[in-house]
Order: sequence, then structure tokens, then C-alpha cells
Amino acid sequence: MEDWHSNLELLKHYDVLQKTGIWEQLDLLNGKIKDQQELISEAIELFQKDSIDSIIEYVTSKLLNKFVPENLVFLLQEGAFSDTLRTIWFKNMKPYEGTDHIKSLTSCTKFFTEFPNSISFNLLEYKLENESFINSLRYYNPEIIVPIVGIGGLNGLILIGNKVIGEGFDREEIYYLDTLMKFASMSIQNNLNHQSAITDFKTRLYNHSFFIRRLEEELSRLERYDEEAALLVLDVDKFKVFNDTHGHLAGDQVLYHVSRAVEDTIRKGDIAARFGGEEFVVLLARTGQFEAFKVAERIRNKIADMTVDFQGKQLKVTVSIGGCHVNKRRLVHATKLIEQADSALYNSKDKGRNQTNFFEPGFYFLSKVAALQLSS
Ligand code: GH3
Ligand code: MG
Ligand code: MG
Repeated sequence: MEDWHSNLELLKHYDVLQKTGIWEQLDLLNGKIKDQQELISEAIELFQKDSIDSIIEYVTSKLLNKFVPENLVFLLQEGAFSDTLRTIWFKNMKPYEGTDHIKSLTSCTKFFTEFPNSISFNLLEYKLENESFINSLRYYNPEIIVPIVGIGGLNGLILIGNKVIGEGFDREEIYYLDTLMKFASMSIQNNLNHQSAITDFKTRLYNHSFFIRRLEEELSRLERYDEEAALLVLDVDKFKVFNDTHGHLAGDQVLYHVSRAVEDTIRKGDIAARFGGEEFVVLLARTGQFEAFKVAERIRNKIADMTVDFQGKQLKVTVSIGGCHVNKRRLVHATKLIEQADSALYNSKDKGRNQTNFFEPGFYFLSKVAALQLSS
């Protein structure tokens, strides 16, 4: 009897509550919590992406589930230090190879560094007093602009155009876009930071510490899978004289072009790094000694044939190369391997430069003796 009575009471309350619209409110709130949870898991996925391309791919796939903007454009500083801008343009979510209308973000750097938030194009047009930049942006027909801002300043912009189907963006859609793009921009910034931490500023090759890490990883992989690899050490010949003759800036330009020659000769899985000064290292994965020698000679010839234009002067350099080969039977520690390649490099220098020599077991000892004799 009691129970029946209290149930009736509850039903009366339910009726009253229904009239206030509270149940719809609860449904709405539940929906919002679900949306937030979705955004959080998307953020987590975005932060796990290890390349800018995979971030962009992820973002575009997420947007496709919701709506299709007419234009979606990523304007990114290419690499961590570069001043050239990379444009990735999607029209109706399909990659589009259009003309690049914006070459630099310098006109809006100050603005977005001070106000690092998403902004509507209309408001930006009003706030940013730079007609030519605004007109260039107009080619992409953006509705919303999300800056990619890191500790070092502005690294890029994401431009989002209007929806292909339906009205303009509603408040919830703008919130979703704004938040997702902010996460994407943080993840891009994180990738750029990582890139700059492992890259050498002058040559845009990997730096010393990254190379050592990868070399150690490669050596343990090699042991596990019973593979082989080769290491090359390159050193520019008589570079001190070159600098004294042509100046340090010309020298820097040469180092940049030497780096490109190395990079263009090796395969995708190989790793080239600036080891320090005018010395470079290359790790050739899954490569036998004979093949490695051929790669070294290809690099050496390419550099010897190359002319670098510097302030109207045609400059040339050569490099000497030392190489060594490892497999499971001849496995040595990373430091030892570098020493072996170095001793082969010493041999190349000693025999007249602009040549490649490989480390042969036994030669290492002889080269140590030779070095001792020379220094005494
Ligand atoms: P070797 O053929 O025996 O290698 O002679 P080298 O003159 O190249 O060797 P040395 O070690 O005596 O001199 C290396 C020179 O490389 C001296 C240094 O000024 C120059 N160098 C190192 N790093 C840079 C750099 O970043 N830019 C420029 N322009 N020069 C550099
Ligand atoms: Mg040198
Ligand atoms: Mg040197």
C-alpha cells in the first residue's frame, strides 16, 4: 500500500518535471558530454601522430564525418626553420593542386602572435590592415582562420571555407571546428618542435645526437634480424683553405649543397646527418659492403661534379669518404663503428683525398699506429 502510494507521488513529480522540459535538457547535456568525450579522444589520437601529413589526413577524415567545407587549406612553414610556406589545399575535401597564393605569413605574424585564436575572415579583414595579404587569403574563400602558434611564434594557418551543403556553420559546429583545429595545430607545433630538435639548422640534415640514437637502434635491429648495414663518414677536403679563399658564407652555402647531394643519392630508409663542422655521416640500412661502396662513390662523384653558385662565383669542392660494414658476425658498438669508418676516412685523406676507402679489419690497428707516428 505504501509503495503504491509513493510510486504515484513519483509519477506526479515526473509529470511536473516533464512540463519544465528538464528531460530534454538532460538529453541535450548527455549529447554534449558525448561530443566532448569524442573531442578528447580525437585530441589524444592527434597527439600520437608523428608526422604533419598524418595529422592532416586525420583531421580531414574527421571533418568528412561531419560536413564538407568548400575549401580547407593548411599553410605551413616547411620544416622547422624554413621561411618557405607549404600549401596543402583541399577542395570539397579532395586534394587540389592550385596556385599558391600566399608565399609568406610575415604580414600576419605579429597579429596572430598577439591574438593566437581562431578568427572569422570578416573580423580579420577588419582587424588586419594589410589589404594585399587579405586579398591573397580571399582566393581560398575562408570563413574561419585558425593560427598555428607555438613558443617560437606563428608556424602556419588553417583556413576553413564554408560548407558545401546547408547553411553557414552553427555555433556547435564552429566550436567543434575551432577545438579540433586547435588540437591539430598543437600537434603540428609538437611535430615541428621535434623536427627542430633532431635537425641541424645549417644543412637541414639530422643532427649528431639523433644519428647516434638511430645508429644504436639500427645495430640492435640488425642483430635481432640478422641483417647487415654500412656506415659512411664524409669530410670536405681542404675546407679551411676554401673558407680562407672564399669566405665563411660561401662555405656555408657549399655545406648546404653537399648535404642535398648526399640526401638525393641515398634511399628513403637511409639516414644522413651532419656529424659536426664539415663532416657528414650516412647510415645505409640493409646494405652490403659492395653496394655501400657504390653508393659512396655515387655521392663522391656527384659532389665532385657539382658547382655551387655563390655571388656569381662558381665554386667546387671534393669530399673524402670512409666506410665500414657490419653484420651479426662483425657486430661492434656504435662508437667503435664510427671509429672504424673514421680510420677508413683517414686512409682516404692520406692517399690523396677525393676518394672512398672502406675499413678492413686489421687496417684499424695500422691506421692507429700511423696516426701515432704522425703526431710524434
Ligand atoms: P682536410 O682535407 O684534411 O679535411 O682539411 P680541412 O681543411 O677540411 O680540415 P680542417 O679540420 O683543418 O678544417 C676544417 C674546416 O672546416 C675549418 C672550419 O672553419 C671549417 N668549417 C667547419 N664548420 C663549418 C661551417 O659550418 N661553415 C663553414 N663555412 N666552415 C666550416
Ligand atoms: Mg675537411
Ligand atoms: Mg673535418
